[in-house]
Amino acid sequence: MIGNPALSWHSNTTYKPHDLSQFTKTQSKLSPFSNSQYPQIKLRFPEHTHLHCSHTHIVKCEESNHCPNGLKFVRGRKLLSELSTWGIGGPCNYFVQVSSQTQLVYVVRYCQEHCIRFMIVGKGSNCLFDDMGFDGCVILNRIEFLERIDSNTFTVGSGFGFNRLGILCSSKGLTGLEFAGGIPGTVGGAAYMNAGANGQETADVVDSIEMVTTEGELQRLNRMDLKFGYRLSPFQDMKDLAAIVAVTFRLKQSESARRRQIEHLERRRNSQPLGERTAGSVFRNPSNSGLSAGELIESAGLKGRRVGGAMVSNIHANFFINSGGSTCQDMLELISLVKETVYRKCGVQLKEEVMYVQPHCNILNPNRDKTRPL
Ligand SMILES: Cc1cc2nc3c(=O)[nH]c(=O)nc-3n(C[C@H](O)[C@H](O)[C@H](O)COP(=O)(O)OP(=O)(O)OC[C@H]3O[C@@H](n4cnc5c(N)ncnc54)[C@H](O)[C@@H]3O)c2cc1C
Repeated sequence: MIGNPALSWHSNTTYKPHDLSQFTKTQSKLSPFSNSQYPQIKLRFPEHTHLHCSHTHIVKCEESNHCPNGLKFVRGRKLLSELSTWGIGGPCNYFVQVSSQTQLVYVVRYCQEHCIRFMIVGKGSNCLFDDMGFDGCVILNRIEFLERIDSNTFTVGSGFGFNRLGILCSSKGLTGLEFAGGIPGTVGGAAYMNAGANGQETADVVDSIEMVTTEGELQRLNRMDLKFGYRLSPFQDMKDLAAIVAVTFRLKQSESARRRQIEHLERRRNSQPLGERTAGSVFRNPSNSGLSAGELIESAGLKGRRVGGAMVSNIHANFFINSGGSTCQDMLELISLVKETVYRKCGVQLKEEVMYVQPHCNILNPNRDKTRPL
């Protein structure tokens, strides 16, 4: 029943990596709401950015390039395959890239007011987009600021590269984000997925998170109020989440951080198909089988198995490759085949880690329950 809804998973800065010391201790850009717990800020927009655009206005924006806040909306032409590491996916109705919190809030409120469903995408390194594309607005997150709060604490824009952050911190003798080296996502994607590797995970070093709600309000959440699990975060279930805007990380000093990271990176190079188009691990590691998802898939004899252009890697069986021209349908069929085979041969029910983004849904924020793994 491939492609059937029944199968669906419920679903610039010019900053240089070695210049950490130049970041001054400044107030957070989000400081107006940094003092209390769960404060909600109603954003005020300047006169000229009032939200009375219409769909026609978006088209005009594209033609005239005069959108408020420097935004440029693209209608109907942007292919999601360009936004995903798998290189799979059809066009979205609207596409817009944001590079500041103000722009993000503007787009969220615009979509909300005009009943346009939307989703936020970081590096698309954990997303499987549909061949039909996405019937809504895809917001590409490039909010990339980094502020040093004190020697061990940083507030980082959610569009900042997670790999870049991990390398930067380890190079400066800070431990906690060694594992981020080699993860090709954004800080926001990592918080949303609670990305992890080598015994570390994002939640371990989160101090607080700033998000924007579907109503366009900003909220700050403290770590102690957020319950994370293995590749699970509270954001995956949050009804009013539009997007994570920034994450504050608290790290510790360790002179051996960079050495450990280099070892992790070396292991990655030897055990993962890094030159190929993949989305990392397709399945979560089962908690009770004693074997990893990759080991189970390998033991079921599925390495190298193909459906169309989609293929189980010969190097790491939990990595599926777009070996050229894979459609979403190919990938879904391969995922289904692997699940069924592993269940039949090993008695283990694998669960997806990657997010399948359905083209249509009836809610504004598909992050909520349409892209969620089983
Ligand atoms: C080669 C390779 C290696 C990988 N290795 C690892 C690994 O070791 N460990 C690991 O955990 N993962 C790994 N991954 C998977 C992936 O990189 C991570 O899950 C990463 O955190 C996803 O970030 P992203 O920005 O690409 O998210 P996307 O794929 O863009 O989005 C994933 C989900 O997060 C949501 N999201 C993204 N940004 C935001 C935001 N700002 N606010 C709210 N929601 C948001 C999206 O809507 C979507 O539902 C790997 C992937 C590849 C290709």
